[in-house]
Amino acid sequence: MLNSLVNWTIDTLPPSAIACAYRRMPPSLASTLGLFRFRQTVRWAARHSAFYRQAFAERNINPTKIRRPEDLGDFFTTPDDVAARPEEFVCRPPNIVFESSGTSGRNKRVYYSHQELTEMGHSMAAGFRLMGLTSADRIANAFDFSIWIPGIITHYGLMAMGCFCQAFGKVDPIEVYRRLESYRFTVIFGEPTWLIRLTELAEKHGTYPIKFLIGGAEEMPRAAVKWMEHVWQGAKLKMCYGSVEQGSALGFQPCEQADGYHLDNFDFLPEIVDRDAEGFGEVVFTTLRRRVMPLIRYRTRDVARLIPEPCPCGIRAPRITRIRGRRDELVVASGGNLYPLMFENILRPVAGLTHDWQVVFRLEGVREILEIHIESQRTDTERLEAEVFAQATDQYPDLMKNLALGIFQMRLIVHPHGEVRTARKLKRLLDLRHDPLPSASDTEESLAFTDVSR
Ligand SMILES: [Zn+2]
Repeated sequence: MLNSLVNWTIDTLPPSAIACAYRRMPPSLASTLGLFRFRQTVRWAARHSAFYRQAFAERNINPTKIRRPEDLGDFFTTPDDVAARPEEFVCRPPNIVFESSGTSGRNKRVYYSHQELTEMGHSMAAGFRLMGLTSADRIANAFDFSIWIPGIITHYGLMAMGCFCQAFGKVDPIEVYRRLESYRFTVIFGEPTWLIRLTELAEKHGTYPIKFLIGGAEEMPRAAVKWMEHVWQGAKLKMCYGSVEQGSALGFQPCEQADGYHLDNFDFLPEIVDRDAEGFGEVVFTTLRRRVMPLIRYRTRDVARLIPEPCPCGIRAPRITRIRGRRDELVVASGGNLYPLMFENILRPVAGLTHDWQVVFRLEGVREILEIHIESQRTDTERLEAEVFAQATDQYPDLMKNLALGIFQMRLIVHPHGEVRTARKLKRLLDLRHDPLPSASDTEESLAFTDVSR
């Protein structure tokens, strides 16, 4: 009885009520409700999914005894599980499938029902409302509509908000730019690199009064944010943190605290696991409303830290920092743990670089080589190198101490514009030390460097 009442109430909530829940729900109530729905999800999955039934049986887990995530011990689901056996997760017939590239080279498939897509649209709309969008806004949605999710889920969110929109898909930015005036768009959605290309057009040919640029699917380089907000004269750049597996966004940027995300703890039960001394660990989530393909303790591979202090904006939904990097992009090299964000911090203050860069780790004999590939039209290469090394020394003295000790060699390799990014997603740290033949998933991304010599 209580179950069905809670479910009915939640499933029929309009976006405004969900937004109100993010904003005001006391953490203790949010946690009670989250755990209640967590237990329902575990029981549902154990009853209806071959994957969970088998995994629980192998670990002697009795689903009716599970009260909180920790009770599942070391049980997690992973991107590899979803890539290898997606259909075994499915609990009831789906209406739609999305795919995303898997780390193992196989695509992950994630299934949803029409009702789930509608509910996720309501959650997206709630997040958009908190970020400042209203039903009076006019939206250009240039997220990709092909085999993965951001275009469609954003579209469902916009339909739930009741605003005017054009569903572009990931078209050439010039197509959107040409229509900014006639449709009087106030908000533009797109992937970070796409928004950067659009902003280059606006810088060259003039801007229009835009309120928000909203990105997702990858982190936006920090240096780009200031430049974009400057070019668009008062527009705000906001990010959503989402993925095909999350469906709707797990994180939004509703307030001025742009260096992280408020989490949707209404649809997800988030955890940070395997934390290091600073509290950084892997973002793990359990879906709380999904019945077609529930994901329990799903390891995202993204690394972030919980921000325990309440946010000055007053929204009570929990917060995490910006994604520091991918757990599978953590490279233990050069005498330390290296994350993409470190190199972003090193390169950001250096003038004349594009936002695309890649760090490649190689071995020459036994010597470790760290190559920083950047794009620039600067011709003063020695000075450029000195600036990059000075930033590295300043910000990461331990790394440079290891360089001085001769533990590794660091090289800067300058490319013309457009040469570093050869795939949709740029793998920032590419470790080729123990893999003389690049794996299938690395090949595409490292093509640009096959002829680099120095
Ligand atoms: Zn806030």
